[in-house]
Formats: sequence, structure tokens, C-alpha cells
Amino acid sequence: MGSDADVIVVGAGLAGLVAACELIDAGRRVIIVDQEPAASLGGQAFWSLGGLFLVDSPEQRRLGIRDSYELAWNDWLGSAGFDREEDFWPRRWAEAYVAFAAGEKRSWLVQRGIKIFPVVGWAERGGWLAGTHGNSVPRFHITWGTGPGVLEPFVQRVREGEAAGLVQLKFRHRVTDLLVENGVVKGVAGEVLEESRVERGQPSSRTVVRGFELRAEAVIIASGGIGANFDLVRANWPERLGKPPERMVSGVPDHVDGSMWGVAERAGARIVNRDRMWHYTEGVQNWSPIWSRHGIRILPGPSALWLDALGRRLPPPLMPGFDSLATLAHLRKIGFDWSWFILTQRIIEKEFALSGSEQNPDLTGHNWRLTIRQRLMPGAPAPVEAFKRRGADFVVADSLRELVDKMNRLTGEPLLDYAQVEREVRLRDAQLENTFSKDAQIMAI
Ligand SMILES: Cc1cc2nc3c(=O)[nH]c(=O)nc-3n(C[C@H](O)[C@H](O)[C@H](O)COP(=O)(O)OP(=O)(O)OC[C@H]3O[C@@H](n4cnc5c(N)ncnc54)[C@H](O)[C@@H]3O)c2cc1C
Repeated sequence: MGSDADVIVVGAGLAGLVAACELIDAGRRVIIVDQEPAASLGGQAFWSLGGLFLVDSPEQRRLGIRDSYELAWNDWLGSAGFDREEDFWPRRWAEAYVAFAAGEKRSWLVQRGIKIFPVVGWAERGGWLAGTHGNSVPRFHITWGTGPGVLEPFVQRVREGEAAGLVQLKFRHRVTDLLVENGVVKGVAGEVLEESRVERGQPSSRTVVRGFELRAEAVIIASGGIGANFDLVRANWPERLGKPPERMVSGVPDHVDGSMWGVAERAGARIVNRDRMWHYTEGVQNWSPIWSRHGIRILPGPSALWLDALGRRLPPPLMPGFDSLATLAHLRKIGFDWSWFILTQRIIEKEFALSGSEQNPDLTGHNWRLTIRQRLMPGAPAPVEAFKRRGADFVVADSLRELVDKMNRLTGEPLLDYAQVEREVRLRDAQLENTFSKDAQIMAI
């Protein structure tokens, strides 16, 4: 049977678009299929902060950060903890990726028109010993234009490919099967979903109008993760993280449903490391949701006091921005689905941020004036202020006693003892009265 294209790419997210661009550059004919409507072209990346992992960049050097391939590779090994037979390919991939990040990645992106904001963030600091989890130095480079800024050049190139007759974009095409002949994947089959006029990121109809089949020499699966499929998350939840929470929010749109896992497995693919999942504990409900159970991750900055549901400080190094998975394991042991950040108005104005392109309109809109105003002038950035006022998980009060009362009312369980919380606040604050300190969080600041 004849081919419809040289290559079929399943998924029109950033991974699928980048793969398609490489194919266009090689002069190949590509079909990109995606279950969502055209409005969601680009997938999750549109919503992202566009934080890029770069090693030994000019932005780092300008800030006096001395980074290297060796340091980054050791950091990667410390975080990945490769210790299984099935880690062979992930390890090879990681080696190539760290070399890319320390080598041509920046120039490759810049050549395509991506601009990098001159401030480098420090994600996942670790805080244990040198050979274990974490980034030894700040490496989180934010794209000027956030997620949409990362997508832009790749969308443009794919559109050019379309105009040149090399690319066909087929939206509302949900793949349910891989066509295998003599052990080789020769195409995809699935269902065409009814037209949908929902806006970007919103859940779209799953009503099927007909079937489809497409054939090509190769099929690339770029279908994203499983984050919006809580059943799949729970089914693969590792024992080392304790029991999965009963209540979760979703940082990703509904289309991140992991449906291709089953499709690929049925065709003979071997999925590895499905228990090595990543979750943040600092998710709050979005007061203005776009997708189902829409959660936004708080980037709390270094100073907020982090307490568990019983009002006790989290032990070091489980401080804001240090070790997400160890924090999750710790909180699961305590057994409640929430923890608390206690902070003042000054801290929220200076440090607090929310992860997501729509929560950072200054950076997303390439707007220097707004960026300077929001970051340097008094008052919290508008999206943060909106969450403070309207977010279901936020509690604001003029005194600590009133705050603790409101926190207890919010959870419906009087788990917090005022005296305990006050003691934690006083003890921590007393550590700020000196230029010396024994408190790990203050030392890290
Ligand atoms: C709020 C937010 C902030 C983030 N911040 C950062 C950051 O700062 N730095 C960073 O590196 N990463 C960040 N990320 C993560 C990053 O954006 C994602 O990992 C990345 O965009 C995933 O791209 P992808 O192409 O693999 O998957 P997706 O964007 O999920 O695209 C997959 C596509 O496949 C389609 N698909 C799935 N199954 C099928 C099927 N059966 N048939 C047809 N189509 C199918 C989906 O509809 C979707 O369009 C963030 C994500 C979010 C949501």
C-alpha cells in the first residue's frame, strides 16, 4: 500500500513540532496528527514559563556563575539515580542532552529567533551532598516571551513547510492504533473527532465522526505525558512516594492524557521507568481555570516559611525550591494532601511568582516597561495579587492568630495549634537578627 507521507508525527506539541522542523529541513514529507483543534497547536509549551536548561551560558557568566559540562553531568547523575538495566537508553539520552545544553543548544535556539531573559533562576537546588540531587548552580534560563516565545519559531517553520507542500496538519485526529507490518510500524489508525471551537487549552469534545488510517515509512510519537490522567498517575505511583493524594490539581491541559502509552504498548513498544514521575507539592487551584482541575504551581521564592498540615516546619533541605520529590515523599508520610506557606505582604511582592505564561504577562508579552514595573515597583504583580484575593487556597489576615483561625477554617479540620505556628515563626525570625545563623533556610538565602 502507498504512503501518505515519509513520516507521521503523533502530537503537535513542542516535541512534535521540533521533530517536524528537522524533517522539513531534511526535505521530508510530514503529516502531523493531533487530537486537539488547531487552537491548541503547540500543546503544553504554550502555557509554560519557557525555562531552558543551559550550561555555561553567557547569561550565567554575566552573573558570575561558573558552570561546566562536568558539573552539570554530575548534577544530572545525582538527580537521575540511574540504577536499572532499563536506564541504558535514558542514560545515553541524558549524556547527549547535557552535552547539547553545554554546547550548541543556545546558539541553535538563538539562530531560530529565541531570546533569553538575562536573569537565571535556580530550580531544584538539592541541598543534600554534592553527589546527590540538585543543580549546583542556577541554570533555569527564562525565554523572553515565555512558552509562546519558545514555540513561535517552530510553529512558523511548520507553517512554512505547510505552504511549501511538505507538511499536512491534521487536527481532531486521535490515534488509537499503530499499524504494524512484519514487526515494523507502517502507519497510524484512529478516530476523527467532531469539530470543536473551544479556546486554546480548554477540554474539547470526544465525539467521534469517522475513522482514519494513514501510512508512512516512519512514525514518531510525541504525545506528551500523563499528568491530566489521574487514574494513570495513581496506577503508576511509586511506593517510595507513599500513598497518592486523594486530592490533586492538574498543571496540564486535559489532552495530556497518556493515551498513547497503551497504543504504543499494544503495538509492541516497551515503556520504561513509568514510576519515575515528577510532581510539585506547591500547586494551587486556579481561580480562573482553563482546563479541568486547573492547578498553578507557586514559585514561592526563598523566604516563605513552609509548614506541614500540622504546623511544623519542613526539615532541611526541604525548603522552597530545593527538592520537589523528597518534599512530596515527606508530605505523603505526614499523610495530608496539603502544606502551608506563611509569608508577609513584602515577601509576596518581592519573591512570589506563579509558573505559567498567562501568569507572567510582562515576560510573555515581551514588555520591558511592564517587566520593570511589576518586578521593581511596590505591590505584587497583578496575577499574583489576583490569586491572593481570589484564589481558593489563599488566606489573608492582619495578625497571625487570625491567619491560623482562617487556615483551620479553610481545611475544615482544626489541625493547626496557634502556639505551635507562632513558635515556628518567632524562632525563624530570631535567626534573622544576626549575620550568623544556624537555620538552613536562612543560610541558603
Ligand atoms: C504551566 C506549565 C509550565 C511549564 N514550565 C516549564 C518550564 O519552565 N521549562 C520546561 O522545560 N518545561 C516546562 N513545562 C513542561 C513543558 O511545557 C512540557 O514538558 C512540554 O511542552 C511537553 O511537550 P510535548 O510536545 O512533549 O507534549 P504536549 O505539549 O503535551 O503535546 C502532545 C500532543 O500530543 C497530542 N496527543 C496525545 N495523545 C494523542 C493521541 N492519542 N492522538 C493524537 N494526538 C495525541 C496532544 O493532544 C498534544 O497536543 C511546563 C508545563 C506547564 C503546563
